[in-house]
Amino acid sequence: MSLRAKEYYRASSLEDAYNKLKENPKNVIVGGGLWLKKTGLEYHTIIDLSNLGLDQIKEDKDFIYVGSMVSLRDFENSPIINKLFNGVIAFGVREVMGPAFRNIATIGGSVYGRFPFSDVIAALLPLDVKVKLYPNQEMSLNDLVNYRGKLDGIIEQIIIRKEEGKAFFKKVKTTALDFPMINFSIVNRSGKNYIAIGSRPGVAALAYKAMEEADKGNYEKAAEIASQELQFLDSSNISKEYRIDLTKVYVLRGLKEVNE
Ligand SMILES: Cc1cc2nc3c(=O)[nH]c(=O)nc-3n(C[C@H](O)[C@H](O)[C@H](O)COP(=O)(O)OP(=O)(O)OC[C@H]3O[C@@H](n4cnc5c(N)ncnc54)[C@H](O)[C@@H]3O)c2cc1C
Repeated sequence: MSLRAKEYYRASSLEDAYNKLKENPKNVIVGGGLWLKKTGLEYHTIIDLSNLGLDQIKEDKDFIYVGSMVSLRDFENSPIINKLFNGVIAFGVREVMGPAFRNIATIGGSVYGRFPFSDVIAALLPLDVKVKLYPNQEMSLNDLVNYRGKLDGIIEQIIIRKEEGKAFFKKVKTTALDFPMINFSIVNRSGKNYIAIGSRPGVAALAYKAMEEADKGNYEKAAEIASQELQFLDSSNISKEYRIDLTKVYVLRGLKEVNE
């Protein structure tokens, strides 16, 4: 499948890109273009952000700033990202396809897409992450994931708060390059537990009741609650019951690991 568009436009600024986006409902922002290609849809103009310096990862004392055009590969190899939560966030992103693919796929495309199977969103959801959208919006990753409808704006960067703690990530898949059947991302940050489960097959969500129980130190009960409070459904390659069984096992394992 090729990326089909009548025109290609390399934006000179975010304002320029936004104005071009608004010109026609069939204009789109392109990150790595991998998902846009896969949909097989035809667009009027694809708007490229690659001249805007959005391929940088920067940090200050409290936050990490990841430009939307940072590739998954640069993200997973970044020393700044690898310092976060014993390198597990980088590991979660490394679980997506192969290195050649991750050299092209971007953080912006992965977040904007809100793909139900997303390992990238699952890995990031238990952290304190804000998404900055041009022209004038900033929202938590959790709000963005739960936002229904078409997002207005262009993702400029994601902002990750630096915190102390440990993380656990597990993608259950049939082959090395496959989509996840289910994924788990469990983080203890600043002494509190966060549990995200994705590809249920719904997009990653936080299991709030299970998180409360985990903070009391009741990890087995927390795993049981997680398997009940989120919605699990059948897919062609995995049953609802198996997803629930995996949840009990991996939530318990993850909670023990991050609280050791
Ligand atoms: C065959 C295949 C297998 C995959 N397997 C997995 C997997 O196992 N796990 C996983 O987590 N992911 C998987 N993915 C998803 C992949 O990791 C990327 O998330 C996906 O390709 C989108 O990234 P991209 O840079 O290619 O985005 P694009 O295809 O360029 O864009 C995706 C969407 O985001 C919009 N967009 C892009 N950048 C911005 C921006 N800065 N602001 C606003 N909108 C923007 C586009 O308009 C489009 O709607 C897979 C994708 C494919 C095609």
